[in-house]
Amino acid sequence: MASVTKSLQVPSATRPFAVNRVYAGTILAVHLLALLAFVPQFFSWIGFWSMVVGIHVFGQGITIGYHRLLTHRSFKTLPWVEHAFAILGICCLEDSPAVWVAVHRLHHVHSDEQPDPHSPLVTFFWAHMGWLFVNNSKARSLTAIDTYAKDILRDPFYMLLEKRPLMLLWIGMAQVPVYFLAGAAIGWIGWGREAALPLAISMVVWGVYVRIVAVWHITWSVNSLAHMFGYRTYETGEASRNNWFVALLTVGEGWHNNHHQDPSAASVQHRWWEIDISYYEIRILEALGLAWDVAVPRHLRRPPRAARAAVAGPDVEDAVRQVSFESSVSS
Ligand SMILES: [Zn+2]
Ligand SMILES: [Zn+2]
Repeated sequence: MASVTKSLQVPSATRPFAVNRVYAGTILAVHLLALLAFVPQFFSWIGFWSMVVGIHVFGQGITIGYHRLLTHRSFKTLPWVEHAFAILGICCLEDSPAVWVAVHRLHHVHSDEQPDPHSPLVTFFWAHMGWLFVNNSKARSLTAIDTYAKDILRDPFYMLLEKRPLMLLWIGMAQVPVYFLAGAAIGWIGWGREAALPLAISMVVWGVYVRIVAVWHITWSVNSLAHMFGYRTYETGEASRNNWFVALLTVGEGWHNNHHQDPSAASVQHRWWEIDISYYEIRILEALGLAWDVAVPRHLRRPPRAARAAVAGPDVEDAVRQVSFESSVSS
């Protein structure tokens, strides 16, 4: 494992820089559309609250869906539940499931060393969003999927998304008419015909554009802030930090040093005050019979001391889980 270094070059696979027009164009366009929120006529409290609720609901498509379920397989669920989380994740416009998983597994295997695609040891801006603007043949490519996320493509749904990437666009864009019609219906029913169009526009601006931008920066803050600021409980060999602010924004993911220490766990809560709402929601799914084999943190899944003494070696279960994580990465 790499030791922490003070600075890092951009991944060599990004050289020479070639702007990724799809990513750069999408990021720029949605940020510009979100600026419509500064037009007072487009504000409504219903639109505002649809953004707040949407940050959590769609954000869990990334946290629970893309990250804890697909990338780390930290619990099992029914296919329709997994696909529902994946569709929420797609609506966040953060890559296809297979590409996101490949990028994140690459990050875990090479955190803060070459070829980590988004280390803040390059610069804060690079880690936060700069890395998305340029092509990276080792991170967002078929080669990367083949190396790090082959298991994801065993599911025909994710394979279809790779074969027909326009589907990602259609799913992502479908949010606009859905929010528009919902806003129009609420406005018309609540305040009459005149209110339908203003509320429809407000719902699209706040519930879709502002929400997507907010979820982007919240997700990106894990890569930037939570690898720069905060405390380290574990000497994990990279720069990951436990950052309470990011944990608050991401409903758990900011306890990132805990996560790097134990990536296969469904929970990143190692101390009572390191609140991990995402894990509590996974436990709710478990109580409803929609999740099982939920991996608790390493320090809780250790066998009793007597049993540990009997095996006279490293924690066997930990070793198995580590192997299963690594084999899922290399399979
Ligand atoms: Zn990290
Ligand atoms: Zn992870």
